Amino acid sequence: MAEITHPTIQDGWFREVSPMWPGQAMSLKVNHIVHHEKSKYQDVLIFESSDYGMVLVLDGVIQNTERDEFAYQEMITHLAMFAHPNPKKVLVIGGGDGGVLREVVKHEGVEEAVLCDIDEAVIRLSKKYLPAMSVGFQHPRVKVHVGDGFKFLEDYKDTFDVIITDSSDPEGPAESLFKKPYFELVHGALREGGVMTTQGPYALSIALSENPWIHLKLIVDLKKDCKEVFPVAEYGWTTIPTYPSGQIGFMVCSKDGGRDVTKPLRKLSVEEEDKQFRYYSSKVHEAAFVLPKFAEKALR
Ligand code: SAM
Repeated sequence: MAEITHPTIQDGWFREVSPMWPGQAMSLKVNHIVHHEKSKYQDVLIFESSDYGMVLVLDGVIQNTERDEFAYQEMITHLAMFAHPNPKKVLVIGGGDGGVLREVVKHEGVEEAVLCDIDEAVIRLSKKYLPAMSVGFQHPRVKVHVGDGFKFLEDYKDTFDVIITDSSDPEGPAESLFKKPYFELVHGALREGGVMTTQGPYALSIALSENPWIHLKLIVDLKKDCKEVFPVAEYGWTTIPTYPSGQIGFMVCSKDGGRDVTKPLRKLSVEEEDKQFRYYSSKVHEAAFVLPKFAEKALR
């Protein structure tokens, strides 16, 4: 069989060159290419790296590696889930690798976790090649829908306690997920408050929001859009070696103007945290929202 080649891999190295991060490119040493296909929406590449395990790449951009994915999946999930007292119905937009689902179902109160990814190829190939992440699909309370997250949300009102937007970057099929009309749909699909309910006023959303070293203007604009839709929008971030500049951020929005999402509402014992997590802890939750001066000033 002919050896698979890919334009992003030369001389045994993958290079993540993109106009989204001008003048810099993450490189990973490649053992071999495991799979390559052009799906209906994007170029899908999976390779085994020398030091980061299997790597999933969409349109030339690293989505996750087996070695460091937990930093991202745990943070995008638990920053939202622990800012809610009792999330029961959770929606994941994107997240076709299954890693966020894996984290969501760690919360025993979750009655239903729905995932909507646009690309069946990501789900199919993650199940085949990324078992530590796609294990999330096996949980009995998980439901999967293949379709555009923007369109999916149009059919839901007053439904979810937490919505996690685990999308790819804003160039490509995820472009609409970084704009104000999307946040309006998210707002509408989150549960409303009600006198008798403990769910509604806590409903909140978290969305992938790039990195201040490269995309400060985009994050400032995103926060402005979110603040026009939600009374609370806070930017937090995590370290992760294989995302551009080693960090990625999240915009956490709440429908309740009095809510401080920068502090967890629920805390586990240190022993329980040790058992459940490799990155997240209640201390890390609070630290994630402390920003360096240049970013804090721009986002204030
Ligand atoms: N957050 C990770 C990152 O930035 O590298 C990506 C994790 S996940 C693999 C991203 C997923 O978002 C992909 O599976 C992609 O198919 C999905 N996606 C992109 N646009 C989407 C859309 N409009 N609706 C639903 N899912 C979408």
